[in-house]
Amino acid sequence: MTNKELADLIFPNVTKTIEDYEKIYPKRDLPEGAVVSRFAPSPTGFVHMGSLRSAFIAKKVPKDTNGVFFLRIEDTDGARTVENGIQGIIDDLKNFDITIDEGVISQEEQIGSYGPYIQSERKEIYETFAKYLIEQGLAYPCFCSAEEIDEIRKMQELNKERIGYYGSYAKCRFLTNEERAERIKRGDPYIIRLKSPGDFNKKIVLNDLVRGKIEFPENDLDIVIIKSDGLPLYHFAHLVDDHLMRTTHVIRGDEWISSTPVHLQLFQVFGFEPPKYAHLGTVMKVDENGTRRKLSKRKDPEAAVSYYHQKGIPVEAVNLYLMTIANTNFEAWWDQNPTLGIDDFKFDFKKMSVSGSLFDLEKLLNISKTYISRLAATEVYNRLLVWAKEYDSEFASILEKYKDYTISILNIEREQKKPRKDYESFSTIKNYIWYMYDEYFTGDLEYQFGKIQDSEEISRILKTYIEKYYDYNDDKETWFNKVKELSKELGYCTDMKEYRANPDNYPGSVADISTVIRVATTTSSMTPDLFEILRLLGKDRIQKRFEKFIK
Ligand code: GLU
Repeated sequence: MTNKELADLIFPNVTKTIEDYEKIYPKRDLPEGAVVSRFAPSPTGFVHMGSLRSAFIAKKVPKDTNGVFFLRIEDTDGARTVENGIQGIIDDLKNFDITIDEGVISQEEQIGSYGPYIQSERKEIYETFAKYLIEQGLAYPCFCSAEEIDEIRKMQELNKERIGYYGSYAKCRFLTNEERAERIKRGDPYIIRLKSPGDFNKKIVLNDLVRGKIEFPENDLDIVIIKSDGLPLYHFAHLVDDHLMRTTHVIRGDEWISSTPVHLQLFQVFGFEPPKYAHLGTVMKVDENGTRRKLSKRKDPEAAVSYYHQKGIPVEAVNLYLMTIANTNFEAWWDQNPTLGIDDFKFDFKKMSVSGSLFDLEKLLNISKTYISRLAATEVYNRLLVWAKEYDSEFASILEKYKDYTISILNIEREQKKPRKDYESFSTIKNYIWYMYDEYFTGDLEYQFGKIQDSEEISRILKTYIEKYYDYNDDKETWFNKVKELSKELGYCTDMKEYRANPDNYPGSVADISTVIRVATTTSSMTPDLFEILRLLGKDRIQKRFEKFIK
C-alpha cells in the first residue's frame, strides 16, 4: 500500500492541496519591512497582564512598520475553553485600546481575508497539511494507548533515558502501511504523529529577536499533530496558521521557547520559511518576602486586566506602563517628550529585558498620576463621570449636578508647568475632593487643627477672618496678604524664617493660621491650593462651615 493510498484512507474528504491554500492566502502585499504579527490566546475568557503585554507588543510592532496585527483564537484544546471566552478576550483587548486589523471581532464576526481566525473552524486546512505529510511518509497514524505510552515512559525511566515518543520507542513508526490500514478499518482509535527527521545529537539555532542566538538539540520526538478528535495540537496549528496567515513575527511569552525546535522543524519539513521569533521575558513580581515570582492570576488582583477598569486607571496609563516595561529606554524618552505618546516612540526588541520584567503596581500608579495630571480638567471630568456611572452612581449624579463646579475643582493646580499629581485613578478622585460637596461634607470627620488646638483660639481666628478679612473678590496675592494681616493682628509670626529662628516668641505662624482655615473648611490638613478652594466654596459655604467652630 502506498503512502498516498494510506493518506486517502485517513482523509477521504480532503480534496484541496497545500497549493490551493497558498493561492487562497497569497503572500501579503505590504511595504518592505512591514511586520505581520498576532495575538493568539486560548479562549479562557480572561486576559492576564502578561498576555496583555504580549498583545501590546504584537500590536505595536506592526503599527510601527505599517504591518498587520490580527487576533487568532486557539481553541483546539476544548478543556481550556470557557463559555463566552472569546468575548471576554475581545472586551479586555478593547478596554486597553488594543485594536486589531484582522481576526475575531465578536463571538460571531471575523474580519480579514486570511481567516477563519478561530482554529476550530480550520479543521479542513489542518487535515490538508497532515494529509500531505502522510503522503510524503513524514507522518503516520499512531495507535498506542495511554497505557502503552505509560509503559514506554517506565521503560525509559528504568533505562535512564530521555522520556518521549522517539526513535526505536516510537513503536507505530515501524508498522507497515498494510498494518496501519487494517487497524484503521478495524476501527482502532488513533492520532497522527510527525515522523521527526531530527537528531537529538545535532544542534539547531534559533535567532531570537530578544535573546539572540540560542542553541537547542534538534527535536527527535514524533510529536502529535492531529489528535483523536481530528483537531490539531498547538505546534501543528501554529505552523499551518502562521504560514497561511503570513505571519512574519511570532511574539509570545518565553514559556514557548522550549517548543521552538519543534516549530522550526515543522517549517523545515514543509520547506516553508519560518517566521522570526521574539520570546518575551516573564512578567514577574517581587513578593512580600523579597523573592521574585511570576505574576499570578490567583494571588495578584492586578494580574487581571479587569482590575484596571474597575479601579478607573486610564488605559493610556496602563499602556504607558507596558511600554515602560517593554522597552528600557521608553521612560527617559517620555520624560523628554511629555507631549508625545506611545505612537511616536519606536519599539525595539533589543531594548527588552531578557530576564523578564518586574511588574510594579506602584510605578504603574505613578505613571497614571502623571498621565492624569497632564489631561485637561474637562477630560478628567468626562472620564471620571464614565467611571462613576459604572461604579459609583451616587457620585455620578453629584458630578452631573455640579458639572462646572467639578471641572473647576479638577482644574486646581492643573494648568501650570508642573501640574499637581494627586489622582492615580478615577476611583481615588472622590477621596481627594469629597469635601467640596455639601452632600458629602459633614464637618465631623476626624480632623486635626495642627499646632493650634484651643477651641477659643480657633473660634477667634475664624471669626476675625470671615468678618474682617475674607473677600471673595481678592486675587491670590491680596488674599494671602490678608491672611498675613490676620496673623499679625492675632500675634502670630508672618515671617517663616524669623519664626523658625525664634519659635518660642510666638503662639504660631501664618502657616498655622492657614491650617486652621483649611481644616475648618475641608476637615483635611492636606489640600490643594487653599485660595482656589475657598474661592470655589464661596463665602456662604465658608461661613457655614466656620459656624461649627465659632462660639
Ligand atoms: N495559544 C498560545 C497561548 O495560549 C499561543 C502561543 C503563541 O503565541 O504562539 O499562549
